Amino acid sequence: MSKKNKIFAKDLSEAEQPRAKGKTESEMLSDDELKILSAAHKDFDRSTLPNYDNSDVAKAKRYAKKNKPTVIFVSATVLLLIAVIATLSVFLYLQGRDAPSTEDFKLTLGEDEYTLKYKSAMRDDVLYLDIVQIARYTELVISGSANAVKISCDDGTYVRFEQGENTALVNGEKVKLGGVAEIVQLDSESEGKMQCFIPYTFIERLFSHEVVKGSKRSVYVSYSNKTNEILIHRISYKDSKEALPIGFSADCFDLVADSLLKEDADDSIYTVLKENFLSMTLLVNKSNPLGEFFTPKGLISLNDVGCPVAPGREFLLEETAALALTQMLLALGEELGRNAPAIVTSAYRSYDYQKALFEKYVQNRVARGMSRAEAEKDASRTSAKAGESEHQSGLCVDLIERGEKYLSVSFEESDCFAWLSENAHKYGYILRYPKGKEHITKYDYEPWHYRFVGVDVARVIYEDKICLEEYLARY
Ligand SMILES: [Zn+2]
Repeated sequence: MSKKNKIFAKDLSEAEQPRAKGKTESEMLSDDELKILSAAHKDFDRSTLPNYDNSDVAKAKRYAKKNKPTVIFVSATVLLLIAVIATLSVFLYLQGRDAPSTEDFKLTLGEDEYTLKYKSAMRDDVLYLDIVQIARYTELVISGSANAVKISCDDGTYVRFEQGENTALVNGEKVKLGGVAEIVQLDSESEGKMQCFIPYTFIERLFSHEVVKGSKRSVYVSYSNKTNEILIHRISYKDSKEALPIGFSADCFDLVADSLLKEDADDSIYTVLKENFLSMTLLVNKSNPLGEFFTPKGLISLNDVGCPVAPGREFLLEETAALALTQMLLALGEELGRNAPAIVTSAYRSYDYQKALFEKYVQNRVARGMSRAEAEKDASRTSAKAGESEHQSGLCVDLIERGEKYLSVSFEESDCFAWLSENAHKYGYILRYPKGKEHITKYDYEPWHYRFVGVDVARVIYEDKICLEEYLARY
């Protein structure tokens, strides 16, 4: 059989007689038939054969069969190309995704957005965030100094950072920070704020503790190193707008074996700090403002508990502080043999009240010829801007001698002051702005302003002749 014949026979056997699959050529065509077909080959029109399928599909199949090796080669090449392109794309995509962005960070705290400069937020490939800013947003209590910052939750749990340390204290347990804490005390003149920079990874873990069982974490924290977007927002209960309570737990961290700070700490002070931190050692000053929305819990009327106050006036104070103050002022009267020789002339002041009060002081000075800026600066030596006043905490009072009308440094010459200086701490009160501590408290000496901190803390402050800021810097 000639080559041509062979091919032709193959064509016939497979294309024109599709059901003859598996049979040999000889079974399909006789030699005579092949001869006839071979002779007519050149001009043979196959479409004239019976059962010839002339559809496009059949044509394509026939073509594909005829050109099998070429089709396979082309297909393989195309497939290989697609595979190479796909692999390359995936590789490039992954490369792009994993490559950290060096754009400035966009920090979203609830409704507010901030831009953080890439170079200042990133140190040694670690992203640092200001936890004080986050604590303000999440309405946690912030206290601290140039050496230490403490963030406390409503349930009494807390975290404490020390300047330059690579560990932190979470509820008394020493844990790894994954970086070094940096505390920055900003100029008090410029809206005095404190900052404490902590690695992002620590912050994410800190807020991962579930206070309400079965609920998600109470603060959502996320960060994408591709877009450099940081998202932090408080989560509310499913059915209400009330935010879930926040709490911290050392369980979220790797503990550091030698907890020197914990062992060295005075146990009694430590207990006080842990259990009553919120109500007793809350630090409020120009660097630690309470802000517009802070209202203390448990305010009661001083008149209701029989505390001596300026005639015709009514004052509010936190309950524990109010009861201790009443005891103190009654004991003072008993000691001096006079009925209530010292009385309260100011106690809790709301944000709005403080705002109006500060404005009044400024206006008085402007009336005396000072410029607005001079007047504000001068007024802030003895009075606080709204949100920065300790009076907003409901934990402090101003005292005057009965019969006096105005607050005066001459109060220090009274026998009341002499007795208070030696005994106030026994009732949990301290002289908040003592002489010689003006550079720390940032207030002039105020012999009339007493602050409740609890008996244990007051004793330490009294014995060591320190102010509240110095006390808090220790613990
Ligand atoms: Zn005061």
